[in-house]
Amino acid sequence: MEALITPFSSPLTSISHKPPSSSSFPPLTTTPFFSRKPHKHLTHRVLNSKFGSFLDLIPENKREPIKFDINWLDPSSTSRFDVVVIGAGPAGLCLAERVARNGIRVCCVDPDPLSMWPNNYGSWVDDLSALDLDDCFDKTWPMASVHIDDHNTKYLDQPYGRISRKMLKMKLLGGCVSNGVKFHKAKVWKVDHQEFESSIVCDDGNEFKASLIVDASGFASSFVEYDKPRNHGYQIAHGILAEVDEHPFDLDKILLMDWRDSHLGNEPLLRVNNSRLPTFLYAMPFDSNLVFLEETSLVSRPALSYGEIKSRMVARLRHMGIRVKRVIENEKCVIPMGGPLPRIPQSVMGIGGTAGLAHPSTGYMVARTLALAPILAESIVECLGSTRMIRGQPLYHRVWNGLWPTEKKLTREFYTFGMETLLKLDLKGTRSFFDAFFKLNPEYWHGFLSSKLSLVELGVLGLSLFGHSSSSSKLDIVTKCPVPLVKMMANLVVESL
Ligand SMILES: Cc1cc2nc3c(=O)[nH]c(=O)nc-3n(C[C@H](O)[C@H](O)[C@H](O)COP(=O)(O)OP(=O)(O)OC[C@H]3O[C@@H](n4cnc5c(N)ncnc54)[C@H](O)[C@@H]3O)c2cc1C
Repeated sequence: MEALITPFSSPLTSISHKPPSSSSFPPLTTTPFFSRKPHKHLTHRVLNSKFGSFLDLIPENKREPIKFDINWLDPSSTSRFDVVVIGAGPAGLCLAERVARNGIRVCCVDPDPLSMWPNNYGSWVDDLSALDLDDCFDKTWPMASVHIDDHNTKYLDQPYGRISRKMLKMKLLGGCVSNGVKFHKAKVWKVDHQEFESSIVCDDGNEFKASLIVDASGFASSFVEYDKPRNHGYQIAHGILAEVDEHPFDLDKILLMDWRDSHLGNEPLLRVNNSRLPTFLYAMPFDSNLVFLEETSLVSRPALSYGEIKSRMVARLRHMGIRVKRVIENEKCVIPMGGPLPRIPQSVMGIGGTAGLAHPSTGYMVARTLALAPILAESIVECLGSTRMIRGQPLYHRVWNGLWPTEKKLTREFYTFGMETLLKLDLKGTRSFFDAFFKLNPEYWHGFLSSKLSLVELGVLGLSLFGHSSSSSKLDIVTKCPVPLVKMMANLVVESL
């Protein structure tokens, strides 16, 4: 399933791209304008609200390409590399840089290597600090908050940040340039494998050969193969970076999840649906008028309708008194979560969205991918480095098992069980779950969200979570989750054999 991003279009305005202090957002104009068109997903009631609907505002921002001198490949001079990386997203660039650091010849192929990444990335600050990337946030908040319901709010003493796409991409491109990575602007159409060598064919007709092809082309990849049915859950969300009249959010806190549903009081149908398949609001307040807002279905299978999510968001913002004056950017977020890993090993290597690295219960992936790229790079270098000459099947075996050693596959089973549990919970169950989850020792809830817990720690977390759960939650887990639990246990046994 493709991560669909609505392209930003700006037929109505030209924006100076001089950044406001400490952020990379375009400046807010003093004269707000409204460009409205009827929206097919809105119910009559929501459309007639006194605030109108932000859905009809046209996103203004054009994603300007990054200006950076990279080493473009001259296809007539070289067509053979040690490694070809498909995709210049966070995963592809980070891996290309790390592999090339060791003298391995790397080419990265992407339809537009200098384009600005489209997604809004958030991360716990310490996850990027551990990678020496603290300078890649354009805004951080010292705390996070979670509204379980109208009477229960959790404050999490854990700094969170919005990743600066521009800074991170420039940093990774800089590393690629210093280490001699070549870039080719094209879309890869086809990947072929021989015994000790693979090749790609691009849409411009160029063909390149390499000892290893790494597919970093994101969730929609068709190059990586699966040998089990792909029963993913889906995170689906609608997000906007908006200029608003005012908003109720504390400027020193990221709102991680707002599970309140009082905004649906006058929307019986939306309320019933939300009780069954709940969505929450995620909000990054940048200042008193600028905020990133995202109505999110944490996980659903099949994916919750995008129109339903937008209608709920309209009702929520109206209830909160948030009047959107401008939509600067919008994003449609679809993240496949959980499901099986790709077949291990196989002739094409994966990293990022193609390698099952998205957190099965949260969809987060950037920090984890940036942390794992050096580990994968190390196995590649061990095999392709000057004297070793490990190619073909032994190479594929080493690199896939380097990224997914047994312990990591086992812990992923547990995270996937977390997702399967969430899939079974309605609004009431979800609230009880997160009430208990954020009562855990921060080491556990934070470790879980950052994919850092060992199998033993995950076992302790599971028991402790059960202990903190309300009686109704315990009943929910016991009655609704035996099948996922049995599946997890069976998979744990199979993986550990
Ligand atoms: C809207 C959205 C918001 C997200 N927010 C967060 C977040 O806040 N925090 C977090 O941790 N994770 C988040 N994620 C999850 C995940 O981190 C991102 O999807 C991340 O961008 C994945 O990185 P990637 O490098 O694997 O793939 P991508 O970022 O998708 O990059 C893939 C690259 O490959 C290129 N490509 C595709 N096909 C080809 C081809 N055939 N040939 C050559 N090149 C190709 C694409 O043009 C692109 O440049 C989000 C995901 C989405 C969709």
